[in-house]
Formats: sequence, structure tokens, C-alpha cells
Amino acid sequence: MTIVTIPGGWIDLRPLTGHDERSLSGVSVFDMVALIDRLALDRPGVMLVAGQAVNLTSAARDRVLACIYTQSYGDLIRSSRLCAACGNHYDLSFKLSDLLKGYAMAAPPAEGIYQTVDGARFRLPTGIDELAVIGLAPHAARRALLKRCTVTEDADPDQIEAAMEAVAPLLSTELQAICPECATAELMDFDMGTYLLRRLLNDQERLPNEVHMLAMAYGWSHDNILDLTRAERRRYMALIEASLRQSRARPISGARRRLA
Ligand SMILES: [Zn+2]
Repeated sequence: MTIVTIPGGWIDLRPLTGHDERSLSGVSVFDMVALIDRLALDRPGVMLVAGQAVNLTSAARDRVLACIYTQSYGDLIRSSRLCAACGNHYDLSFKLSDLLKGYAMAAPPAEGIYQTVDGARFRLPTGIDELAVIGLAPHAARRALLKRCTVTEDADPDQIEAAMEAVAPLLSTELQAICPECATAELMDFDMGTYLLRRLLNDQERLPNEVHMLAMAYGWSHDNILDLTRAERRRYMALIEASLRQSRARPISGARRRLA
């Protein structure tokens, strides 16, 4: 169990199991909300239980997704790059904890209503706001989202957006990657939720093979194997792989003895 503290309260997340990994189907806001709903435990005092993740502000949701990432993969974010200038493959990595330090969220004011320096009032967008504008073109969606969250009439949307970013930055940024071969710099988009779900979807492809190996080795049912947390499944997989290496090594040493 992992407690995640976010402005306004805390939630408790259980670790991911094979069932959760299997349930993933995309990288949209729907998928991010659904994942948090699956993992949020009903405890006395929690700020949300299953079915309420859509009410989280987008910035708070990013922090929860960052926590799921850390729980599943550790602190390191890694990306393989292909240099457009020289064709060199290289890795770009950074610590998620370092990124989070630079993106602190301000404590929410009463009723969740913030104010710009000019006195315009606004609230932070939530999953509900994002889902409401999902069919619109990016520019129109951005405007509609700001309009939904602005309390003061005729407020400047750009000013509201800048104020939102200042009090509750999203874990979404452009990072500069520099090719170690030719020193060409390129910009890489990073978005916490998309990155987490892409990585999990990537792992999902390995799931049938892991289920197969565990079923063969222990005779467990499909459901029992998917009930295991990722960490448990990985530990059993490591044991199976070690046994396979041993059984492969044995006939070779036997053959050597016969030759001698
Ligand atoms: Zn290069």
C-alpha cells in the first residue's frame, strides 16, 4: 500500500497486478482515470475512492500517476532517442523525484478558488473538464477548458492559464535531448500520464508469455497468476529463469565429463 499526499488530502494505492495491466487499452484521460479508480483503496479519511478519480484536478492526477510509476518502475525515467541528424541511438534519462521538486503544487485555497494578481478568479481543471472538451480541436479545447474553470467574467484566458500553471503545474514538459555523437539538440515532449501508460502497455505484450511460464512451472490458474502483483510475478519469473539456466547447463557439463 502506498499513501500519496496531494493538495487537499491523501489517497492509498494498492500495487498493480496482472489484472490491472491487462485492463489497459490506451493512453487517454479515460485510461488514466480508470487506472487510478482501480488502484485507489477505500480507507477512512481518504479524499477519493474508486469511481471518483475523475474529480481529481489534472495536476493532482499527474502526481498520483507519478506515484504509480515509481511504485512500478522506480525513480528513473528513460527514453531511447534516434538522432535525426546522424542516426545515432542514445538514451535520455532523468529522475522523476528531481522533476517533482521543480513542480511543486501550492496548497489549495478555500473552496478551491484561486486568484490571479489582477484579481480574476478561477478553479483548477479536473478530469471532468478535460473529458467535456475531448472532441474539440486542441486550440478550441484549451479555450473551452479555460472558460469552464474561470469564475470571473471577461478574464484574460492567457493570464488564467499562466496562473494555473504557477499554482498547479502539470507534469508535462519539453525536455532538451542532446545527441552524444554529433551534439545536435532536439526537444522531446514528456507527459507523466502518457509515459506511464505507454510503458505499461509495452509490458502488457509480455504478459501472456509470463502467464504461460508461471502456469507451466507451478500449475497455477490464469486468474491466480494475474492476482500476483508485478513484483511478485517478477520474483517467480526470476526463479523460473534461474532454474531453466541450471537445467540447460547440466547436460553440457555431463557431456564434458564423458569426453574426458
Ligand atoms: Zn546525432
